[in-house]
Amino acid sequence: MVSSKTTVKTPTTTAHNTTESVKQLHYLAAALKAPRITEAATRLADQARDAGWSFEDYLAAVLEREVSARNASGAQLRIRAAGFPAAKTLEDFEWDTQPSIRGDVAALASGGFLTEARNVVLLGPPGTGKTHLATALGIVAARHGHRVLFATATDWVTRLTEAHRAGKLPGELARLRRYGLIIVDEVGYLPIEQDAANLFFQLVSSRYEHASLVLTSNLPFSGWGGVFGDQAVAAAMIDRIVHHADVLTLKGASYRLRGRGLDSLPSIRTTTAETEN
Ligand code: ADP
Ligand code: MG
Repeated sequence: MVSSKTTVKTPTTTAHNTTESVKQLHYLAAALKAPRITEAATRLADQARDAGWSFEDYLAAVLEREVSARNASGAQLRIRAAGFPAAKTLEDFEWDTQPSIRGDVAALASGGFLTEARNVVLLGPPGTGKTHLATALGIVAARHGHRVLFATATDWVTRLTEAHRAGKLPGELARLRRYGLIIVDEVGYLPIEQDAANLFFQLVSSRYEHASLVLTSNLPFSGWGGVFGDQAVAAAMIDRIVHHADVLTLKGASYRLRGRGLDSLPSIRTTTAETEN
């Protein structure tokens, strides 16, 4: 048995041997659904021979290429699935406009807040970079392997209301708990009805100490009672949100109006924020 197999497969030269092995690599890599392994294995083999790597070093180098390629394409998929309004990163952010929060945001960029299920609240006037930073933290999360969903508070309310009407709220909340990060943008731009506020409270509760939220608002917490139409619900919600949270306050004039000589006109600032968002 062994000998007949050997007879058929015995290579006559090293070159023939390598060709056969590369073919087999193609087959095995495809079977593992890791086609990049073939390319890395052949490319790194020359390097390994030249540099006299151990078998272990060579195997580790090949697998490392596959794992980092998978992570990168996984991050791209998670970023596309998150529903960000625009691709904004921490690298794009100019810190001279918000020097006071730079250190806090740099600490968040390590992604530790996600594994600890901590929240981030970004407060501040329109155009100061809240949505930009919320998106950038979402991209950080996606790069750290977390699933992310971005939507405005109004969109979340619509989504939860639909699930509730269909009798599927518990299932929807359970599904959302599988996302390491949920971003709720623009709390406070539009009022939320009392029933919807209760649904939103359930979203906050279901994630409490389990998975992270990033929220943005143009209003201080003292204004949230008015948004949710109920001081008690707002207080209970804020209590859970801020128990484990970084609350960052952005300041200053709208970045959108920089250099246009308009940044001291509140009426124009508000209109622009609404039309551009
Ligand atoms: P907000 O959500 O606070 O209203 P945005 O995050 O939407 O503000 O910012 C408005 C626009 O200005 C966006 O295009 C954003 O990328 C840009 N922007 C705001 N602040 C900065 C900054 N410090 N550096 C770079 N771009 C910024
Ligand atoms: Mg915004």
